[in-house]
Amino acid sequence: MSVSDTPTLTRRAFIARLAALAAMSQVGGCTEPRPLKLDTDPFTLGVASGDPSPDGAVLWTRLAPDPLHGGGMPAQPVDVAWQIARDDAMKDVARSGTAKALPALAHSVHVEVTGLEPDRPYWYRFRAAGAESPVGRTRTTPAPGASPQTFRFAFASCQNYTQGYYTAHANLAREDLDAVVFLGDYIYEGTARGNLVRDYERRGWGFGLSDYRDRYAQYKIDRDLQAAHAAFPWIVTWDDHEVENNYAGGIDKDELHKAALLQRAAAYQAFYEHMPLRGPRPEGPDLRVYRSVSSADLVTFYVLDTRQYRSPEVSLCPEQDEAPSGYCPASLDPKRTMLGAEQRAWLLGSLGGSRATWNVVAQSVRFAQQDSNPDPAKHTFDGVDNWMGYVSDRQAILEQLARTRNPVVLSGDSHVNFVYDLKPDFADPRSPTIGAELLGTSISSEGDPAVPATQFDPSTKNPHLRFFDNHRGYVRCALDRAKLVADFRAVSTVLRPTAAVSTTATFVIEDGRPGARRA
Ligand code: FE
Ligand code: CA
Repeated sequence: MSVSDTPTLTRRAFIARLAALAAMSQVGGCTEPRPLKLDTDPFTLGVASGDPSPDGAVLWTRLAPDPLHGGGMPAQPVDVAWQIARDDAMKDVARSGTAKALPALAHSVHVEVTGLEPDRPYWYRFRAAGAESPVGRTRTTPAPGASPQTFRFAFASCQNYTQGYYTAHANLAREDLDAVVFLGDYIYEGTARGNLVRDYERRGWGFGLSDYRDRYAQYKIDRDLQAAHAAFPWIVTWDDHEVENNYAGGIDKDELHKAALLQRAAAYQAFYEHMPLRGPRPEGPDLRVYRSVSSADLVTFYVLDTRQYRSPEVSLCPEQDEAPSGYCPASLDPKRTMLGAEQRAWLLGSLGGSRATWNVVAQSVRFAQQDSNPDPAKHTFDGVDNWMGYVSDRQAILEQLARTRNPVVLSGDSHVNFVYDLKPDFADPRSPTIGAELLGTSISSEGDPAVPATQFDPSTKNPHLRFFDNHRGYVRCALDRAKLVADFRAVSTVLRPTAAVSTTATFVIEDGRPGARRA
């Protein structure tokens, strides 16, 4: 045992004693548990807010005095007082209340605040067990009838903790934004892989609830990630690594069916416990994540779930290169779905009825077609884990986007930046551009880029590909009634704890003129 283990054990012993005392006080006939005091800060995971509305937002925290060993809380409900104020000194309190942090939800708190004024910043904090949390800042959206002129957001994804420091989050926290959109791979499951910049404290991995909880805690003790959460409301969805690499649905895994669903239930519960999401809390292996968030009639974000309802991945496809279309025949099967029937109907219906100036589909994986075979006579449409494996759903969405005002698709997962023109028929260069896809690089996954890569030639194999870059970072967007401006922000390194940020490229999408153009 190393010397550094000792304080942890002492803390654990102390918490066990607290739990025993709490249990005794209940045996003695007290109906109310004794007010809890902790000698260690329970706000080790910071604070967060999310899913802003015209009159509120979700405020989140989790009590975890021993975050990397199950949290360290006694097995009892704990009252958590919250306040939200109009000023950063927390003097002008607008709303306050008390929430219960329950052991069943890892002592996380999700306060769905209402009754706030539209379109303004607020500051919030929590108190519990004699301790006070850091102050977070959030922002309500404009009233439905308002006519806002600007919205600023950043989108990001893929923050492998072991493969890089969160220099991107440190810089993102200093931007001037109304919200952050996070597109998945918030955690990576399993043991650390790749070139390690830092390691997980907990050894081993078992796909159980305690594995996922400790993994979220490991990520969320990072101060730069905490700063990015405390600075802006986040609008989050997930990708595969919140459960398991490249998982699909889980309901068609036959003999693995039951184990897969138990794993999914654990992963989804831990996701909910650590994200500023609205209820209801997950029940078993299901959690509805797809939803929309709007800034009045200026912009609507359609946040998709591309994992929970998808058909199984098309496995190795040796005939792909010979198929006339270049697609693996199975990918074209109209029975295959990425979104599931309900979500797909919701998305197509919502887009069809939208009156927003900008319609942003925020989702996890690459949407556009991409041919990665350098041979002009051959096609390799790799990526059966992204929309290349779900062509029928993509086509239905493309056809709806063609009838939608200013459609923009945001994506992540690829760990590089791409910009694409979206076309109803990617194989036909005369097919009109109907929208743009902005695909953002990773926060830290895969570490620093080796060399600038040049394997894609937009003029031949992928004429609709407008941009490629392999730095780490995020994408900062500012939109108004006339245009959306996207700055691809790159950090100088993720191999050291601090780094500079710069803009590697700026793309502009003009109102009524589909496609992104480099500024
Ligand atoms: Fe990733
Ligand atoms: Ca992924």
